[in-house]
Amino acid sequence: MRRKLAAGNWKMNGDSATLDELATLAQRHAEASVDLLICPPATLISRAVSCAGPIRIGGQDCHAAPSGAHTGDISAAQLRDAGATAVILGHSERREDHDEDSDQVREKARAAHAADLLTVICLGESLAQREAQNTLDIIGAQLALSVPDSATGENTVIAYEPIWAIGTGLVPDTDQIGEVHDFIRARLERRFGAGVGRSVRLLYGGSVKPENAASIFAVSNVDGALVGGASLKAADFSPIVSAL
Ligand code: PGA
Repeated sequence: MRRKLAAGNWKMNGDSATLDELATLAQRHAEASVDLLICPPATLISRAVSCAGPIRIGGQDCHAAPSGAHTGDISAAQLRDAGATAVILGHSERREDHDEDSDQVREKARAAHAADLLTVICLGESLAQREAQNTLDIIGAQLALSVPDSATGENTVIAYEPIWAIGTGLVPDTDQIGEVHDFIRARLERRFGAGVGRSVRLLYGGSVKPENAASIFAVSNVDGALVGGASLKAADFSPIVSAL
Protein backbone atom coordinates (compact mmCIF):
# COMPACT_ATOMS: atom_id res chain seq x y z
CA MET A 1 0.00 0.00 0.00
CA ARG A 2 1.38 3.36 -0.98
CA ARG A 3 0.97 6.03 1.67
CA LYS A 4 -0.74 9.15 0.31
CA LEU A 5 1.29 12.35 0.09
CA ALA A 6 0.19 15.98 0.00
CA ALA A 7 3.11 18.18 -1.02
CA GLY A 8 3.18 21.97 -1.15
CA ASN A 9 5.56 24.03 -3.26
CA TRP A 10 5.72 27.62 -2.06
CA LYS A 11 7.99 28.60 -4.99
CA MET A 12 9.41 32.14 -4.48
CA ASN A 13 6.57 33.06 -2.14
CA GLY A 14 6.32 33.39 1.59
CA ASP A 15 8.28 35.01 4.38
CA SER A 16 8.57 34.69 8.14
CA ALA A 17 4.86 35.49 8.53
CA THR A 18 3.88 32.62 6.23
CA LEU A 19 5.38 30.21 8.76
CA ASP A 20 2.24 30.84 10.85
CA GLU A 21 0.30 29.08 8.10
CA LEU A 22 2.67 26.14 8.39
CA ALA A 23 2.23 26.03 12.16
CA THR A 24 -1.57 26.05 11.72
CA LEU A 25 -1.33 23.21 9.23
CA ALA A 26 0.91 21.21 11.58
CA GLN A 27 -1.63 21.64 14.37
CA ARG A 28 -4.61 20.65 12.22
CA HIS A 29 -2.96 17.55 10.82
CA ALA A 30 -0.97 16.42 13.84
CA GLU A 31 -2.65 13.01 13.61
CA ALA A 32 -2.74 12.77 9.80
CA SER A 33 -2.79 9.30 8.29
CA VAL A 34 -1.19 10.72 5.14
CA ASP A 35 2.28 12.22 4.60
CA LEU A 36 2.65 15.99 4.33
CA LEU A 37 5.53 17.88 2.77
CA ILE A 38 6.03 21.63 2.45
CA CYS A 39 8.84 23.08 0.33
CA PRO A 40 9.35 26.73 1.30
CA PRO A 41 12.06 29.01 -0.12
CA ALA A 42 15.51 27.91 1.11
CA THR A 43 15.77 30.96 3.38
CA LEU A 44 12.91 29.61 5.50
CA ILE A 45 13.87 25.94 5.70
CA SER A 46 15.48 25.84 9.12
CA ARG A 47 12.78 27.95 10.77
CA ALA A 48 10.10 25.92 8.99
CA VAL A 49 11.55 22.72 10.44
CA SER A 50 11.10 24.04 13.96
CA CYS A 51 7.36 24.70 13.55
CA ALA A 52 6.41 21.88 11.16
CA GLY A 53 5.54 19.15 13.64
CA PRO A 54 4.92 15.97 11.63
CA ILE A 55 5.19 17.82 8.29
CA ARG A 56 8.32 17.11 6.27
CA ILE A 57 10.20 20.17 5.01
CA GLY A 58 11.92 20.12 1.63
CA GLY A 59 13.92 22.27 -0.75
CA GLN A 60 12.83 23.28 -4.26
CA ASP A 61 16.09 22.40 -6.02
CA CYS A 62 19.65 21.32 -5.25
CA HIS A 63 22.97 21.23 -7.10
CA ALA A 64 24.35 17.91 -8.34
CA ALA A 65 27.80 18.56 -6.85
CA PRO A 66 28.48 17.97 -3.14
CA SER A 67 30.22 21.36 -2.67
CA GLY A 68 32.36 23.85 -4.54
CA ALA A 69 32.42 27.06 -6.57
CA HIS A 70 28.73 27.33 -7.49
CA THR A 71 27.60 30.78 -6.40
CA GLY A 72 23.96 30.90 -5.40
CA ASP A 73 23.47 27.14 -5.41
CA ILE A 74 22.72 24.77 -2.56
CA SER A 75 23.91 21.17 -2.28
CA ALA A 76 21.73 18.26 -1.23
CA ALA A 77 23.84 17.81 1.90
CA GLN A 78 23.33 21.48 2.81
CA LEU A 79 19.56 21.06 2.50
CA ARG A 80 19.80 18.03 4.74
CA ASP A 81 21.99 19.98 7.19
CA ALA A 82 19.32 22.73 7.34
CA GLY A 83 16.77 20.11 8.36
CA ALA A 84 15.14 19.34 5.00
CA THR A 85 14.35 15.70 4.29
CA ALA A 86 13.10 16.12 0.72
CA VAL A 87 13.67 18.13 -2.44
CA ILE A 88 11.63 18.96 -5.54
CA LEU A 89 13.67 18.42 -8.73
CA GLY A 90 13.00 19.18 -12.37
CA HIS A 91 10.02 21.44 -11.82
CA SER A 92 8.98 22.93 -15.18
CA GLU A 93 9.84 26.41 -13.89
CA ARG A 94 13.43 25.22 -13.29
CA ARG A 95 13.49 23.45 -16.66
CA GLU A 96 12.26 26.64 -18.39
CA ASP A 97 13.82 29.46 -16.36
CA HIS A 98 17.18 27.74 -15.79
CA ASP A 99 17.40 25.56 -18.89
CA GLU A 100 17.57 22.39 -16.84
CA ASP A 101 17.35 19.22 -18.85
CA SER A 102 16.49 15.72 -17.72
CA ASP A 103 20.16 14.67 -17.58
CA GLN A 104 20.83 17.39 -15.02
CA VAL A 105 17.70 16.46 -13.10
CA ARG A 106 18.91 12.85 -12.90
CA GLU A 107 22.34 13.94 -11.58
CA LYS A 108 20.66 16.13 -8.98
CA ALA A 109 18.42 13.25 -7.96
CA ARG A 110 21.42 10.98 -7.60
CA ALA A 111 23.08 13.57 -5.32
CA ALA A 112 19.87 13.97 -3.33
CA HIS A 113 19.58 10.22 -2.82
CA ALA A 114 23.19 10.11 -1.64
CA ALA A 115 22.29 12.81 0.93
CA ASP A 116 19.27 10.78 2.04
CA LEU A 117 16.66 13.19 0.68
CA LEU A 118 13.30 12.13 -0.71
CA THR A 119 13.21 13.40 -4.30
CA VAL A 120 10.02 14.67 -5.91
CA ILE A 121 10.89 14.49 -9.61
CA CYS A 122 8.59 16.55 -11.86
CA LEU A 123 7.54 15.71 -15.42
CA GLY A 124 5.08 17.48 -17.70
CA GLU A 125 4.16 18.34 -21.25
CA SER A 126 3.43 21.76 -22.76
CA LEU A 127 0.08 22.57 -24.32
CA ALA A 128 1.60 22.41 -27.81
CA GLN A 129 2.97 18.93 -27.06
CA ARG A 130 -0.42 17.76 -25.79
CA GLU A 131 -2.23 19.20 -28.79
CA ALA A 132 0.24 17.43 -31.07
CA GLN A 133 -0.63 14.20 -29.20
CA ASN A 134 2.93 13.82 -27.98
CA THR A 135 2.14 13.73 -24.28
CA LEU A 136 3.11 10.11 -23.58
CA ASP A 137 6.27 10.34 -25.69
CA ILE A 138 7.38 13.44 -23.80
CA ILE A 139 6.55 12.00 -20.40
CA GLY A 140 8.22 8.70 -21.28
CA ALA A 141 11.43 10.43 -22.35
CA GLN A 142 11.51 12.74 -19.30
CA LEU A 143 10.85 9.80 -16.99
CA ALA A 144 13.57 7.60 -18.50
CA LEU A 145 16.22 10.33 -18.28
CA SER A 146 15.26 12.18 -15.09
CA VAL A 147 14.96 9.21 -12.73
CA PRO A 148 18.30 7.70 -11.63
CA ASP A 149 18.93 3.98 -11.13
CA SER A 150 19.13 4.70 -7.39
CA ALA A 151 15.35 5.29 -7.26
CA THR A 152 13.27 3.27 -4.80
CA GLY A 153 9.79 3.65 -3.37
CA GLU A 154 11.32 5.15 -0.22
CA ASN A 155 13.47 7.82 -1.86
CA THR A 156 11.52 8.78 -5.00
CA VAL A 157 8.16 10.35 -5.80
CA ILE A 158 7.14 11.30 -9.35
CA ALA A 159 4.95 14.37 -9.92
CA TYR A 160 3.04 14.64 -13.19
CA GLU A 161 2.50 18.34 -13.79
CA PRO A 162 1.20 19.41 -17.21
CA ILE A 163 2.87 22.79 -17.78
CA TRP A 164 -0.35 24.28 -19.12
CA ALA A 165 -2.15 23.42 -15.87
CA ILE A 166 0.34 25.10 -13.52
CA GLY A 167 -1.05 28.30 -12.05
CA THR A 168 -3.67 28.61 -14.78
CA GLY A 169 -6.81 27.11 -13.24
CA LEU A 170 -6.88 24.64 -16.16
CA VAL A 171 -6.88 20.98 -15.16
CA PRO A 172 -6.78 17.91 -17.42
CA ASP A 173 -9.89 15.76 -17.16
CA THR A 174 -9.66 12.71 -14.96
CA ASP A 175 -9.26 10.37 -17.97
CA GLN A 176 -6.26 12.37 -19.14
CA ILE A 177 -4.69 12.30 -15.67
CA GLY A 178 -5.37 8.56 -15.36
CA GLU A 179 -3.85 7.82 -18.75
CA VAL A 180 -0.56 9.52 -17.85
CA HIS A 181 -0.38 8.08 -14.33
CA ASP A 182 -1.07 4.54 -15.57
CA PHE A 183 1.60 5.03 -18.23
CA ILE A 184 4.18 6.23 -15.67
CA ARG A 185 3.33 3.28 -13.41
CA ALA A 186 3.77 0.79 -16.26
CA ARG A 187 7.10 2.32 -17.28
CA LEU A 188 8.39 2.24 -13.69
CA GLU A 189 7.38 -1.41 -13.32
CA ARG A 190 9.06 -2.28 -16.60
CA ARG A 191 12.31 -0.56 -15.63
CA PHE A 192 12.54 -1.29 -11.91
CA GLY A 193 10.41 -4.42 -11.55
CA ALA A 194 7.05 -4.73 -9.86
CA GLY A 195 8.35 -4.24 -6.29
CA VAL A 196 9.95 -0.83 -6.78
CA GLY A 197 7.71 0.12 -9.71
CA ARG A 198 4.58 -0.25 -7.62
CA SER A 199 5.96 1.44 -4.52
CA VAL A 200 6.96 4.79 -6.06
CA ARG A 201 4.25 7.35 -5.33
CA LEU A 202 2.79 9.36 -8.22
CA LEU A 203 1.49 12.87 -7.55
CA TYR A 204 -0.64 15.02 -9.80
CA GLY A 205 0.19 18.74 -9.87
CA GLY A 206 -1.32 21.75 -11.64
CA SER A 207 -4.15 23.93 -10.28
CA VAL A 208 -5.12 21.49 -7.53
CA LYS A 209 -7.66 23.27 -5.30
CA PRO A 210 -10.00 22.25 -2.48
CA GLU A 211 -12.83 22.05 -5.06
CA ASN A 212 -11.18 19.58 -7.44
CA ALA A 213 -8.93 17.58 -5.10
CA ALA A 214 -11.35 14.74 -4.32
CA SER A 215 -12.09 13.98 -7.97
CA ILE A 216 -8.37 13.99 -8.84
CA PHE A 217 -7.53 11.74 -5.88
CA ALA A 218 -10.12 9.21 -7.06
CA VAL A 219 -8.12 8.58 -10.26
CA SER A 220 -6.16 5.33 -10.42
CA ASN A 221 -2.45 5.65 -9.63
CA VAL A 222 -2.85 9.13 -8.16
CA ASP A 223 -1.20 8.91 -4.74
CA GLY A 224 -1.48 12.58 -3.84
CA ALA A 225 -0.79 16.06 -5.13
CA LEU A 226 1.96 18.61 -5.60
CA VAL A 227 0.26 21.92 -4.89
CA GLY A 228 1.56 25.40 -5.66
CA GLY A 229 -0.73 28.38 -5.04
CA ALA A 230 -3.15 26.53 -2.77
CA SER A 231 -0.32 25.43 -0.44
CA LEU A 232 0.40 28.94 0.83
CA LYS A 233 -2.63 29.16 3.11
CA ALA A 234 -3.62 26.53 5.63
CA ALA A 235 -7.28 27.26 4.82
CA ASP A 236 -6.69 26.10 1.22
CA PHE A 237 -4.17 23.31 1.78
CA SER A 238 -5.92 21.71 4.72
CA PRO A 239 -9.07 20.64 2.79
CA ILE A 240 -6.82 19.19 0.08
CA VAL A 241 -5.03 17.11 2.73
CA SER A 242 -8.39 16.01 4.11
CA ALA A 243 -9.58 14.94 0.64
CA LEU A 244 -6.75 12.40 0.39
P1 PGA B 1 -0.25 25.37 -8.91
O1 PGA B 1 1.30 24.92 -9.05
O2 PGA B 1 -0.87 24.44 -7.90
O3 PGA B 1 -0.18 26.79 -8.43
O4 PGA B 1 -0.86 25.22 -10.26
C1 PGA B 1 1.65 23.57 -9.03
C2 PGA B 1 3.13 23.42 -9.11
O5 PGA B 1 3.78 24.17 -9.86
O6 PGA B 1 3.72 22.55 -8.44
